Amino acid sequence: MEFIKVILKRGKEQSLLRFHPWVFSGAIQSVSGDIEEGDVVEILDSNNNFLAMGYSQIGSIAVRIFSFERVIPDEKFWIGKIEKALAVREKAGLLNNPETNAYRLIYAEGDGMPGVIVDMYNQTAVMQIHTVGMYIIKDTLCNALQEVMGSNLKAIYNKSEGTIPFKANLNPENGFLFGKTDDKTALENGLRFNVDYEKGQKTGFFVDQRENRALLEKYSNNKKVLNLFCYTGGFSFYAMRGGASLVHSVDSSERAIELTNQNVELNFPGDDRHQAFAEDAFKFLSHPKEDYDVIILDPPAFAKHLKVVPNALQGYRKLNARAIEKIKPGGIIFTFSCSQVISKDAFRKAVFSAAAKSGRNVRILHQMEQPADHPVNIYHPESEYLKGLVLFVE
Ligand code: SAH
Repeated sequence: MEFIKVILKRGKEQSLLRFHPWVFSGAIQSVSGDIEEGDVVEILDSNNNFLAMGYSQIGSIAVRIFSFERVIPDEKFWIGKIEKALAVREKAGLLNNPETNAYRLIYAEGDGMPGVIVDMYNQTAVMQIHTVGMYIIKDTLCNALQEVMGSNLKAIYNKSEGTIPFKANLNPENGFLFGKTDDKTALENGLRFNVDYEKGQKTGFFVDQRENRALLEKYSNNKKVLNLFCYTGGFSFYAMRGGASLVHSVDSSERAIELTNQNVELNFPGDDRHQAFAEDAFKFLSHPKEDYDVIILDPPAFAKHLKVVPNALQGYRKLNARAIEKIKPGGIIFTFSCSQVISKDAFRKAVFSAAAKSGRNVRILHQMEQPADHPVNIYHPESEYLKGLVLFVE
């Protein structure tokens, strides 16, 4: 099979020799034919030596690599990729787990499938595609998923309407690509929740906080807990199971608050320890309703691009400073950043400045990260995004 060839400028092959899976547009010397967004290409160095295969994209990342060997990217090839991804989840204890049936099956570059996210909710796969190259083969990916998952898969929902570049004119529509189901509940560490994959954010639930929520549970007994940026209330129902005396959940979205209330009701029907508020988290923290012992800060990514990093750091400083000022002596703060462009170090410095400003004694008890079903490709540090600290505030 012949593919279009993308030839790099002299010296620009270095990052590919280190298996980094992106080719930037500035590294390209020439292209052997007419190229359309999404086309499969072969990457060659300036001496025409083969380096990798990927698909083209319009933008500063011009090619995303899916193989460093010559391959035919057909259904069999993608089956191989998905089988490897599944094997990792099996090792992490996420398959046939009676307590947890929500996990990330495919994490883009972390699983060698750039542009594709697949989250499993019980027997439903929710697929979110971010690039044209992967979107145009979505039916192949769908078949490959069915082949690998067999009877463990009852439906595949495509949720790519908001993630495919609109200029590509593909007019993606959300909907089932295979099967259909009304079952929208899933389990995480024995707790139940509704997944609104049709209208909710991302694929409907944040599966990346599973282990950090479990850690919170251990700090909740007899505590007054404030869960800021709660979305569907994940941290809140763990705090309740952990024995919290009161839990307040806050999100600026009314819909998120509805979902949180539903999820609390699913797990603790009629339990009046919980209350949810549709409010701005910054405002809420300025006039807290209680003296909280535990505060969770899990805001959306404040920075999606390098250009806005300084503003984002300012946001993290402000938010953390306010929480550190307000928390009860001896209190615990779970603070996170899910901005991929903000490094662990930069985030920690922002929290450090916030602590220094408050003048209170602050110690780091735990450092948190993303779980094993969001694996970090060691050659692609950009796949690391979630970081968090558990702080003890004297
Ligand atoms: N902690 C959640 C995920 C949080 S996602 C979980 O465990 O699932 C970030 C959430 O912050 C979104 O639900 C969004 O609606 C909310 N949000 C964004 N800006 C906000 C603000 N200024 N105040 C309160 N909530 C906000």
